Amino acid sequence: QSGARLETHNPASGALLGTIPAGAAADVDRAVVAARAAFESAAWRDMTGAKRARLLWKIADLIEANLDELCELETLDQGKPLWVGKYAEVPGAIEQFRYFAGAATKIEGTTIPTSIDYQPPGKKIFAYTVKEPLGVVGAIVPWNSPLVLTAMKIAPALAAGCTMVLKPAEDTSLTALRLAELIAEAGVPPGVFNVVTGLGEAAGAALAAHTGVDKATFTGSTEVGKLMLDAAKGNLKRLTLELGGKSPAIVMPDADLELAIPGVANAIFFNAGQVCVAGSRLYVHGSIFERVIEGVANYARGIRLGHGLDPQTQMGPVVSAKQAERIAGYVESGRVAGAEVRVGGGRGGPCGTFIEPTVLTRVRPDMKVVREEIFGPVVVATPFDDAEEIVTLANDTHYGLAASVWTESLSAAHRLAAQIRAGTVWINCHSMFDATLPIGGMKQSGWGRESGQQAVENYLETKTICAVI
Ligand code: NAD
Repeated sequence: QSGARLETHNPASGALLGTIPAGAAADVDRAVVAARAAFESAAWRDMTGAKRARLLWKIADLIEANLDELCELETLDQGKPLWVGKYAEVPGAIEQFRYFAGAATKIEGTTIPTSIDYQPPGKKIFAYTVKEPLGVVGAIVPWNSPLVLTAMKIAPALAAGCTMVLKPAEDTSLTALRLAELIAEAGVPPGVFNVVTGLGEAAGAALAAHTGVDKATFTGSTEVGKLMLDAAKGNLKRLTLELGGKSPAIVMPDADLELAIPGVANAIFFNAGQVCVAGSRLYVHGSIFERVIEGVANYARGIRLGHGLDPQTQMGPVVSAKQAERIAGYVESGRVAGAEVRVGGGRGGPCGTFIEPTVLTRVRPDMKVVREEIFGPVVVATPFDDAEEIVTLANDTHYGLAASVWTESLSAAHRLAAQIRAGTVWINCHSMFDATLPIGGMKQSGWGRESGQQAVENYLETKTICAVI
């Protein structure tokens, strides 16, 4: 409403792509009022699950029909190589809508035979539960994988019958705005889905604190996740938090190194390390440490950095000069603290946003580079000697988002999977995402899970009805 706008830039070149509205509290308020009215309207409230399912399926079809445009927008806005959007993230977004289209017709309560025995003579107790949509949802997402992370919230929320206000990340709002057009084109009633662009501390904070929002769902840093918790207090809104990580990738002495070396390299270098579950702490058994580290370093040397639209590009820039500065600061802090830069460590490009894939060795558990989430293509590597030691090292973090274990031993794999405190443990793979697989964190990596059947429950309340009949 103020008319103020924010510039959005191509992180590869620094070129101005366009401007987006700098939304603030007044805009959030209007969007929440629209979402509330839509929630209470007969057009949405009385719509059957089957009809909501068809709408979600239609959104998926429209994303698919506009896949090339969405991928190009994401590359220009975020920097990622075109193939990342084309083969991983946009298909991932489509699958979210198709998966939760199926959920919309399967939202059911239960009938409950109670133990109450003080009902009037000749009467019976009839008790059951129904699942009701929670209401207006405020969704806030980060910039690393904008479209798919947004779909992970919209699809189950609409399947449940909620209405929404989305606040995309200020650096990457373009696909969210295009998606809003596609959602309208699919026939979703006006007011059911709203987008307010703007800065986190303005539009984001206003949405988080708004007492007309029944549920906030946030993906982003642990630091802002804690602010979300404070902001939720006013009306005790429900909260799902998908936060940061410092996930271990563990290579056991019997690992298949043909699989493990490119696997652990991709675990950190995919999407320039801007992945919440990135395998940013690499632990390798001492007997194969040098071989694996040299293999990962070689892999890193072979990665072609470039503009995301160039088909030869394997790694694009990071999202902004500010983020690049932050990553470079971490590498420098590691160097100063005594870490060895085995490969990478440099930074370049027209606006300094290209970060070389970097491997740091000789790190200690107390170093900042080992403890904090860098969110860039930087891995810290440590040797270990036995299975007990590796469990302690892997769990020595306040995060608990994900981990991977690389071994040919069935028992070692499942024993470690049980002992690691993380929301997901991959065995002989890393970053395997699917709409069917719950994802989310233990410890300070968050509250709740997205994807998978239970995600629709994030947007439902259980009502108990108990009658004497
Ligand atoms: P961020 O926390 O800085 O920002 C995330 C979103 O919150 C943005 O839209 C931002 O505008 C908004 N925001 C900022 N300040 C706010 C405030 N005071 N109130 C309300 N909203 C506010 O995170 P980021 O730097 O954009 O993204 C990177 C982080 O996201 C990393 O920590 C990464 O691990 C995490 N992440 C987690 C998952 C997961 O599933 N667990 C997935 C992707 C990214």
